[in-house]
Amino acid sequence: ILLAQHINQWCYSFCRRLALLFLTAAQHHRRAMEDFIHFSAFFVIGVVYSTFIEYWGHRAMHSPKLRNLHDHHMVHHKRNYGKGVMLEFAKYLLFAAFSCCIPLSIFGPASIAQPLNVGVVLTAFWSAYCHQWQHDHPPEHQHFWYMESPVHHVHHKYDMLHHNFGMCVDWWDHVFGTYVKHEGAWSDNSKAGAVERSMNKPALWHVKWI
Ligand SMILES: [Zn+2]
Ligand SMILES: [Zn+2]
Ligand SMILES: [Zn+2]
Repeated sequence: ILLAQHINQWCYSFCRRLALLFLTAAQHHRRAMEDFIHFSAFFVIGVVYSTFIEYWGHRAMHSPKLRNLHDHHMVHHKRNYGKGVMLEFAKYLLFAAFSCCIPLSIFGPASIAQPLNVGVVLTAFWSAYCHQWQHDHPPEHQHFWYMESPVHHVHHKYDMLHHNFGMCVDWWDHVFGTYVKHEGAWSDNSKAGAVERSMNKPALWHVKWI
């Protein structure tokens, strides 16, 4: 009887321990899931913020009221030439740092600042990559990944002053009614750009498409 009692007790404590283990594992899993959802949510907000700034920043450059910015951007339009992914990224990063990352890191809670800043910085890089790609417009890929009509390429190809202000996404052009799709064949065009490219020494980390 003593042995039976002993075994009984052992079984009881074993089961209890096992149940506890499962419970903490489930709790841990739930917390990890919550963390993941929390991170993704603020990451997405960072991406949305960046693309919104990209759209309105570029649109502001087309406003004659902002004289210096406008004139500077018109030079970019005349040359139709990308500076290279890394130089463009550095420029966006500088703006992102002062408009969002630094103040958010100082004044916002880390749980929000971290995922949001990751979203902002990755989008800035992606945007720089997309900018270069759409200026070089490699003839072997005429549409860009998820954009059948690459907005920034079309913006420069037709020297648009009032349309297609997006670069890595075309959402905001759709939202604000400035979207224009490229129709027909891509008869090229970018020869002028190519000549200038070959005359310039290659920019820092310039992705060579051609
Ligand atoms: Zn422009
Ligand atoms: Zn531009
Ligand atoms: Zn451009």
